[in-house]
Amino acid sequence: MATLVYLHATENIGKGSLELVTYARKIDSDVTVFVTGEAPNASLETLGAYGAKEIIVNRVLSVSNNQQVCAWLAQHAANYSTILFSHDFNGRSIAPRLSVRIKAGLISGAVSLPETNGAIKVNVFSGKAFGFVKCLTETRIISLLPNSIAPELIGGTCTVREVNEQPSTQGTIAVLEVKKPEGAIPLPEAELVVSAGRGLKGPENWGMVEDLAEALGAATACSRPVADIGWRPHHEHVGQTGVAIRPNLYIAIGISGAIQHLAGVNGSKVIVVVNTDAEAPFFKAADYGVIGDAFEVVPKLTEAVKKFKAQA
Ligand SMILES: Cc1cc2nc3c(=O)[nH]c(=O)nc-3n(C[C@H](O)[C@H](O)[C@H](O)COP(=O)(O)OP(=O)(O)OC[C@H]3O[C@@H](n4cnc5c(N)ncnc54)[C@H](O)[C@@H]3O)c2cc1C
Repeated sequence: MATLVYLHATENIGKGSLELVTYARKIDSDVTVFVTGEAPNASLETLGAYGAKEIIVNRVLSVSNNQQVCAWLAQHAANYSTILFSHDFNGRSIAPRLSVRIKAGLISGAVSLPETNGAIKVNVFSGKAFGFVKCLTETRIISLLPNSIAPELIGGTCTVREVNEQPSTQGTIAVLEVKKPEGAIPLPEAELVVSAGRGLKGPENWGMVEDLAEALGAATACSRPVADIGWRPHHEHVGQTGVAIRPNLYIAIGISGAIQHLAGVNGSKVIVVVNTDAEAPFFKAADYGVIGDAFEVVPKLTEAVKKFKAQA
């Protein structure tokens, strides 16, 4: 049977969406994408080149009310044997609700395509190990960790159909305000990320982090306490309870490397750590480490990047 992909799509179709559609197409060539969000139809049509056959867009749903989105998807779920989400904030909220609602097994945090026996590799113990999980229900729900599969352009087109389906369930939550993340590069999509933690002492010192990010063309991120105390916005918080990222380069400045932080970043291809404490746990996960004071190291790193780019 067919595969349903859920996307919350804003203006542009991001890399994460292309990954999901590619993953779905590799499971089954019959891919329907259910969309909420403001992305224009012309932008959604690009998903056809990655394997989507049909796009169904529902613009009447309050996209931040995941109970309603879940109810909408549940109305259509019976036509699909696999239902796919990104393992992001929306996916982590909707997928378990849908699993309970339609009584389908959920494979959470998948990092591979199904093996021949149907088992799928998942991150377990906050990314410390892998497990293989198989769904025994007729319908399986999968949430895919970003950057687990490369988007694959195969050519092709899709139809886009707009629907105005408002599920009868209003849900038990009310969304009071939606704040859109600022910054030129969305964190979950970023190939390069510069992140900082409590070692920076205060929000007034983030200028040097932003300078390094700008020189590299990177997104900025932070540890959870930094967001909790209001030094940085919450959408920058990475880790077990924040955004999970898997960029090509992750630079961690003044972050200790607690297991809950590593859970969201240890899929990064290259990790660089700057920390004064040679015993900081992050060094065990690092590919490159600088034992030194961020206030000395980071400006020098920025200068070196700028010089390198000027010569290139
Ligand atoms: C249930 C649960 C979930 C959690 N989820 C998350 C999560 O998703 N993400 C997350 O990040 N945390 C999470 N945490 C918190 C986590 O356990 C750590 O407390 C947190 O990551 C520590 O943040 P930090 O490294 O910025 O601060 P600290 O632990 O205070 O570390 C600061 C580091 O900066 C270094 N330093 C100090 N001065 C300098 C300097 N001048 N130059 C360079 N280095 C310097 C220090 O040596 C130290 O290693 C969670 C905790 C719990 C219990």
